[in-house]
Amino acid sequence: MKVRYFDHAATTPVREEVIKEMIPYFGVEYGNASVMYSLGRNAKRAMDIARRRVSNAINCEANEIYFTSCGSESDNLAIKGFAYANKNKGNHIITSKIEHHAVLDTCKTLERKGFKVTYLNVDKKGIVDLNQLINSISKDTILISIMFANNEIGTIEPIREIGKIAKENNIVFHTDAVQAIGNVKIDVQKLNIDMLSMSGHKFYAPKGVGALYVKEGINFEKLQDGGEQEKNKRAGTENVAEIVGLGKAIELIYSEFNEYNKKLKSLRDYYISEVEKNIDGIKINGDLENRLAGNANISFKDIDGAELLFKLDEKGICASAGSACSTQNPMPSHVLTAIGLEQELANSTLRVSIGKDNSKEDVDYLVNTLKKIINENKRKIEKNKA
Ligand SMILES: *Cc1c(COP(=O)(O)O)cnc(C)c1O
Repeated sequence: MKVRYFDHAATTPVREEVIKEMIPYFGVEYGNASVMYSLGRNAKRAMDIARRRVSNAINCEANEIYFTSCGSESDNLAIKGFAYANKNKGNHIITSKIEHHAVLDTCKTLERKGFKVTYLNVDKKGIVDLNQLINSISKDTILISIMFANNEIGTIEPIREIGKIAKENNIVFHTDAVQAIGNVKIDVQKLNIDMLSMSGHKFYAPKGVGALYVKEGINFEKLQDGGEQEKNKRAGTENVAEIVGLGKAIELIYSEFNEYNKKLKSLRDYYISEVEKNIDGIKINGDLENRLAGNANISFKDIDGAELLFKLDEKGICASAGSACSTQNPMPSHVLTAIGLEQELANSTLRVSIGKDNSKEDVDYLVNTLKKIINENKRKIEKNKA
């Protein structure tokens, strides 16, 4: 059976061009980037190119990029690393209720270590409450961490405004941009972003490599001790091949930014309009304007999300019931709860995230399959009532 993949917010396939560029560094170019001889220098040079490609994509200096093992590590390093290094300046951090667990749980850990954290509310569309942000700021506030775009509902946050507020109040601003890379043009200078997290596998590089931007002059502590790699901020021999892959992938995705986003948006809008036409009792979650191009998050009445996923999988369709990280967890997603969705609707929600290889035919197949599953479910419910 043909697999139709609609879960690009969970992970993306690795592009051919990226694999091709990585292969030598799994094989003949196996040098350790920290050594002096030419084999090592080749690895170092390859990492320098990758670093430059990442910095070009977000408009910072190459020496402001630190490679990590994933988006989660980048979030941990930014938030804990900054908090530990600056606790003499204050102990208050502001974040939102709809962050990824890599940020939320990092903040929970810091609370256990004596930091105070404000979790900002969001409105029905998932946009953070800027008034509450302003009112939460105190002389103890050292850090604001707000995600660029939400992984479940696709809402893009008012990052420019948040950056401005942070700057005016002399507070460092971190953003988890894992979902935004490739989908939003990002200029960390114009947006006043001080720290930014990304993850390769969300933009067609492999799993297991991420990057963190930290503006020059911002002090943060390393979390992992050992060697002096990454300007002594992240110990461990570098994953050269995957760093090369991340660099190639970010350059490619921004070189085709317009076509890529146009394609995703047109398929996503087509999907939503077909669902509206063909299926009753649906609710579209998130902001329809400030939204990631490939994201559609829709609640379908009276059907259990896990059951829906299972039945879609039987037909070769991969999608998500909200957050990929909560598939083991029957509780409604914290994001859908925060936008005020009732538990029942939250538990009958399907996230479709479109990627560069999807076609209109894939979307037609998805909508037809959904229609069949939902009609069948309706008949079952009516039969049980009778
Ligand atoms: C996927 C994701 C992460 C985690 O990235 P990993 O590389 O899987 O650790 C963090 N934040 C957001 C918004 C994500 O979508």
